[in-house]
Amino acid sequence: MVATIVGCALCGAETVGTLVCGKCTVELSHMMHHLAVRLPDLRQIAAKKASVMVRESSHGSRTVAPVPVNVGAWQLQQSIVEYAVQIGKALGLYIVRVHAESLLEVAARRSQRLMGRNDAVQIYKLAETAVHRLDRQLEPPAERVLIGQCDHCGNDIWSSEDDLAAGWQPCACGTTINIHQVQEQQMFRLALSGAQGTAADLSKLLKGCGLDIERKTISKWKERDWIKPIGKQDGKPVYRLWDVWRTLNR
Ligand SMILES: [Zn+2]
Repeated sequence: MVATIVGCALCGAETVGTLVCGKCTVELSHMMHHLAVRLPDLRQIAAKKASVMVRESSHGSRTVAPVPVNVGAWQLQQSIVEYAVQIGKALGLYIVRVHAESLLEVAARRSQRLMGRNDAVQIYKLAETAVHRLDRQLEPPAERVLIGQCDHCGNDIWSSEDDLAAGWQPCACGTTINIHQVQEQQMFRLALSGAQGTAADLSKLLKGCGLDIERKTISKWKERDWIKPIGKQDGKPVYRLWDVWRTLNR
């Protein structure tokens, strides 16, 4: 067989007989290591709980658990762990009860094998997005809030007050982000888990998603009968997050 000279599927550099060049393979290894090293810090941020509750399914039963204060960090942690498990499967590892950190370290050492796969480009791009999201989460840009993800590239969207007021902002990938749409997707994801809490707790959670809703406003909606509490917690009415979101947009 004659080795054909083609361009690296990622950077275009000359390669002989491989899909991805040596430099990009080394870069993947660095990214996997970076994810493994910084994931514990993300876990710490994501573990801080607020008193807004969500349904959580574990081993077939449904329990109620508090939603983390930092919804963005929590979702990112879930998505990196899921990525690590997929990579572990791609490498044929036995992954029961193995930490994502360990899987990512193994992946860092076996980057050559990963970059020899047909889905090498996808594996690389997902690692790149995860690294980017993780770095921003650990050093959040000043005066910006994470409102959700770009539909096109999967990166987190961090909005300034001006962006929120404008309702639109550009993503680094070139897509124009409709802020309301991204926020609605975020609310929908949380609503699917049955997120619920007192007016004060929901107000705090929504502010963290870039939605400025005062506790008093929610209480006023209740007085006007626009929204109905679904229960009580320490004598205070508890509302569904989705009901608050719907009332806000009526
Ligand atoms: Zn994008």
